[in-house]
Amino acid sequence: MKETTKLLHSIPVDELTGAISTPIYQTSTYVQEAPGVNKGYDYARSNNPTRKVLEDLIAGLESGSNGYAFASGLAAIDAVVKLLSSGDEIVAVDDIYGGAFRLFTHIYQKFGITVKYVDATDPANIAHAITPATKLIWIESPTNPTLKIADIAAIAKIAKAKGVLLCVDNTFASPASQKPIELGADLVIHSATKYLAGHSDLIAGLVVTKTEELGEQIKFIQNASGAILAPFDSWLVIRGIETLSLRVKQHSENAQQIAEYLLTQPLVKNVYYPGLPQHKNHEVANKQQRYAGGVISFDLKIDDKELATQLVSSTRFFKLAESLGGVKSLICLPCEMTHKSIPAEKRRAAGVSDSLIRLSVGLEDVEDLIEDLQVQFVALSKKVSITA
Ligand SMILES: *Cc1c(COP(=O)(O)O)cnc(C)c1O
Repeated sequence: MKETTKLLHSIPVDELTGAISTPIYQTSTYVQEAPGVNKGYDYARSNNPTRKVLEDLIAGLESGSNGYAFASGLAAIDAVVKLLSSGDEIVAVDDIYGGAFRLFTHIYQKFGITVKYVDATDPANIAHAITPATKLIWIESPTNPTLKIADIAAIAKIAKAKGVLLCVDNTFASPASQKPIELGADLVIHSATKYLAGHSDLIAGLVVTKTEELGEQIKFIQNASGAILAPFDSWLVIRGIETLSLRVKQHSENAQQIAEYLLTQPLVKNVYYPGLPQHKNHEVANKQQRYAGGVISFDLKIDDKELATQLVSSTRFFKLAESLGGVKSLICLPCEMTHKSIPAEKRRAAGVSDSLIRLSVGLEDVEDLIEDLQVQFVALSKKVSITA
């Protein structure tokens, strides 16, 4: 059985009715036959059959042992950090998702957990940062918004040798493209808000563990802290995952063409896309990802926020919004949006210039998306030649 067949048929048919679509169990509690005698479900924070189908589905898809669904990607990240204790240290990728940075720095630091941020494009940087207090390595690949790639298998080797857990935020690649647990990671988290749900219609998070033992710890935290995913949203994520491999393939094909188009544009300075041979870690991306993904960033030769603002505010099909991974294309200006809370100097040092534009390439016909950008480049070049 091949992968997509296996995925689709791992979603069980409802035993009670034969419903082919997973029933939505919209309930808070379950009637018991006698005190403590139940059908495996007692209270819906602890367990819900709809959520359970999603949790088993993502565990299978990520080649892990257990999966857990949370109210948001950040709630999933939060659950993983709660595996640690005061005095423990995290070594994290330096261009980490801003929300994870905020959580680590502004919430967990005050509980005595410290974080070191390193450039994970070279695994040696991670090895050097590990101390006896390090309990968790946290990476993303590709990263946001400059699409840096970390060699997951190489970092997993380091983690294993040092007895440190490795967690990979697999949001940008999605399991249709990259499976960190197969590459040696212990934990995978997702903002299911993005590619997994895929339609920009909910907020959700997932954790997958490599082992049963880690799974039980995450399950305990999920129930103890309570940030569970609701039944209807669980159902929507299941529905999204059914078409994940088709979508990610098409997102990537569209993005590859747009990235190649951007390279030809005289106003464009850098194009950040792992599918381009020019990308610094293109070989590593090829090795560990099946698809290069749907996110591209680029900046302008004239690093001017006003010009970039005009571009992102004027596209027709690329809608100006935060987030990514939906069927409709989005465009954003990280310095004013997703990365505004990072001090300007630090932001620029990380490659997020004032004109850096991030695209989440959707499933529209790629010719229309390229024309949409072309119209903007023509308008910008007129503006530039007038002011020059
Ligand atoms: C969006 C995102 C998150 C946070 O997920 P939410 O669902 O918004 O809480 C975490 N990591 C990455 C890489 C993301 O893009």
